[in-house]
Amino acid sequence: MEILHVSFECYPVAKVGGLADVVGALPRYQQQLGHIAKVVMPMHRTKFLYEHEWEVVHKGSFKMGKRAIDFTIIKETNNSLGFDLYCVDIYGLLDREKVYNYDDDTDRFLAFQISVTEWLAQWHHHPDVIHVHDHHTALIPFMLQHCFGYCHLAQIPTILTIHNGEYQGWMSWQRGGEIPAWDTWNWGLLDWDDTINSLASGIKCAYRVNTVSSNYMTELMESSKGLQHLFQMEAAKCSGILNGIDYEVWNPETDTLILDNYSIKDVNQGKNLNKKKLCDDYGFETTKPLFIFIGRLVGEKAADLLAPAVSEALNLPNADFNFLVLGSGEKSTEAALDQLKDAHVGFCNAQFGYNEKLSHQMYAGADFILMPSRVEPCGLNQMYAMRYGTIPVVRKTGGLADTVIDYEDENGYGITFLQASVNDIAQAIHRSIILYRNKSKFLELRKLIMKLDWSWEKSAIKYIELYTK
Ligand code: ADP
Repeated sequence: MEILHVSFECYPVAKVGGLADVVGALPRYQQQLGHIAKVVMPMHRTKFLYEHEWEVVHKGSFKMGKRAIDFTIIKETNNSLGFDLYCVDIYGLLDREKVYNYDDDTDRFLAFQISVTEWLAQWHHHPDVIHVHDHHTALIPFMLQHCFGYCHLAQIPTILTIHNGEYQGWMSWQRGGEIPAWDTWNWGLLDWDDTINSLASGIKCAYRVNTVSSNYMTELMESSKGLQHLFQMEAAKCSGILNGIDYEVWNPETDTLILDNYSIKDVNQGKNLNKKKLCDDYGFETTKPLFIFIGRLVGEKAADLLAPAVSEALNLPNADFNFLVLGSGEKSTEAALDQLKDAHVGFCNAQFGYNEKLSHQMYAGADFILMPSRVEPCGLNQMYAMRYGTIPVVRKTGGLADTVIDYEDENGYGITFLQASVNDIAQAIHRSIILYRNKSKFLELRKLIMKLDWSWEKSAIKYIELYTK
């Protein structure tokens, strides 16, 4: 089967979050299963672009409203990711260093989708499946089926994977004319609540829709920023497939970004050495349990609750722990974490910005990872953490509920709590400290979580089954 993935991110080319990790790994596993998987993404100006060789495979142009746009498709010549990687370049739109957060993001998403569709229209053959990821690419199923210029592509099956339903790609109807000439009888396939809603359109038009965990699909059917009724109506084609993690990139035995490699056999020694480095770097004591948080400092991740919850936990009797944050996001949250760090020198520290190397060192050196998320479609951090023997302390939501069982429940191995509230987080930290002091149980769980299988193999097969349907 030949699969074309269309995505705005792909690790290691350009990464903001979990979307990149999935699109960087799933195609490789699909190739290993004997399929042909290709990825097309924007040509963001990242290090990867300059460090690899490229060839031009297509040049084209189109009109987006009144604007004439030229685009170029380049292909990475050495196949260094294990699958064919194509990038779309558009001068003045896709030639940026950051992936998102520009005023003209809507233009960028639309121009990227039109370029990909225009390019596909020139192929001599058709892929068997087009797999689009998140709202940035979710208009493609509509365009293939209802834009006059692409009718010969209408029979190609499309899959939409929703990595995050919080962002839906809303566009005012004034922009309807920027989508390549389409059959206006079908305006309802673009519309939701009187705006063009890219994600809603993808849900309506894609052959199949999936989220990155089963529980997240159930949650979206209950509440999804206004799309819940749509998910309920389209339930027959909706499902959840849990993300896997890339066992080659995330492997404590071979990870070149951590100080000391280790396996399940020498995990205690390995983690101690990695922990010592973090403690030395951030002014902590190695005897205390070390909690980490890694991620976007945004409301979805409940990052605003970290500072007050950690502060409350530090005030609980017998609470003696270290806390290290790595992330960037809302300025008010960064300021609160800065204050926390100043108020608790030797206990709390924070590193703002994106740092892949430090993230690996933190997964390797920490005792616990804290994930109090309000919304977590799958969550990869808890799986990376477990692979590195770091116990997850998570709110029971989305994919976190599908991957972490509380250690006091049958077959459990992590710590879970119900509410994204200061009190629940502080209590969960407190329970974790009690577990940490119960050395035999703590070390037993550490080994148990390292044995759990989060590899892509199972999930990659589930995607092939979905395509086959
Ligand atoms: P989301 O996609 O919602 O941000 P996920 O848990 O699915 O969350 O994926 C997060 C990924 O991004 C993980 O690989 C995590 O290690 C990484 N990550 C997030 N923030 C940072 C950061 N500041 N530095 C390094 N890696 C980060």
